[in-house]
Amino acid sequence: MSRPAAEDAPIETQVLDGLALAKSLRGEMAEEIGKLVAAGLRPPCLAVVLAGDDPASRSYVKGKQRACSAIGMDSVEHLLPESTTQDELLELIDQLNANDGVDGILVQLPLPDAISAAAVAERVDPAKDADALHPLTSGRLLAGTAKLVSCTPLGIMAVLDHHEIPIEGAHAVVIGRSNIVGKPISLLLQQRNATVTMCHSRTRDLAGICRQADILVAATGRPCMVKADWVKPGAAVIDVGVTEVDGKLVGDVDFEAVKGIARLITPSRRGIGPMTITMLLRNTLLAYRLRKRV
Ligand code: NDP
Repeated sequence: MSRPAAEDAPIETQVLDGLALAKSLRGEMAEEIGKLVAAGLRPPCLAVVLAGDDPASRSYVKGKQRACSAIGMDSVEHLLPESTTQDELLELIDQLNANDGVDGILVQLPLPDAISAAAVAERVDPAKDADALHPLTSGRLLAGTAKLVSCTPLGIMAVLDHHEIPIEGAHAVVIGRSNIVGKPISLLLQQRNATVTMCHSRTRDLAGICRQADILVAATGRPCMVKADWVKPGAAVIDVGVTEVDGKLVGDVDFEAVKGIARLITPSRRGIGPMTITMLLRNTLLAYRLRKRV
């Protein structure tokens, strides 16, 4: 398959600076929290629970705590051993649900093998569901009434809006159908009147479908799967995938090849990742406001 017709006139591709956008959105939240505190209220608080010793998870949890503290949000960390039972974890969640000083709850995934992630997600009070994994939260998204929404899809929508990518009437192709990325981003795009095609590992002629996309979201965890000739000239390409290959983080999109074809591309580092954490903060702040009616 040859490269698209745009070969002769390369398109000036905007590369998302996810860190800069995240910083600007976090600055707005810091201001909001500053005003709440100046009015005599306590700051919002995110509880982060980590079971097990996975070094990557530990580093994610630390990153989330730093992000909270940088905007004046409180956070509490619960580090549990790998041997934690499901009942013990559910009991901790019950305590956090009952604690009026906690506004958002995030249980870091993956969990130890003996613990069901579905059971944990269902135990979190939907009013404190900062990670938006409770089935009621997903159901509200389906019904179009959600306030708390999965963080990565929210981050993607913020990126598209920041770069003024037209969504209404656009053909959006989403590769991946997970509960945390593929399904919710498909719903959000459809709610904004995109025509959405959702693809997965059994999709036939994936490249051909992708070539029709005005907005292409790749969330598979398959490094460099999306090639230059999968991309329509001028498309917005959102690369969610992050896979470690030879000690380096690699996205789902062949970034260098797609640059010059897409109108917008997100890099695997400093791309969607910082936006995901930003939306976790956004959900916690929103959960606080909804619970406290402020
Ligand atoms: P999952 O493993 O839950 O889902 C992957 C999806 O990709 C599945 O629907 C699967 O299809 C599909 N898929 C896999 N291989 C192919 C293929 N060859 N062709 C077409 N579709 C394929 O992953 P997640 O959604 O949780 O995460 C996806 C990626 O995004 C990962 O790399 C993850 O690390 C990253 N991620 C990054 C975040 C960030 O903040 N930057 C946040 C969340 C995730 P099927 O259903 O048929 O198996």
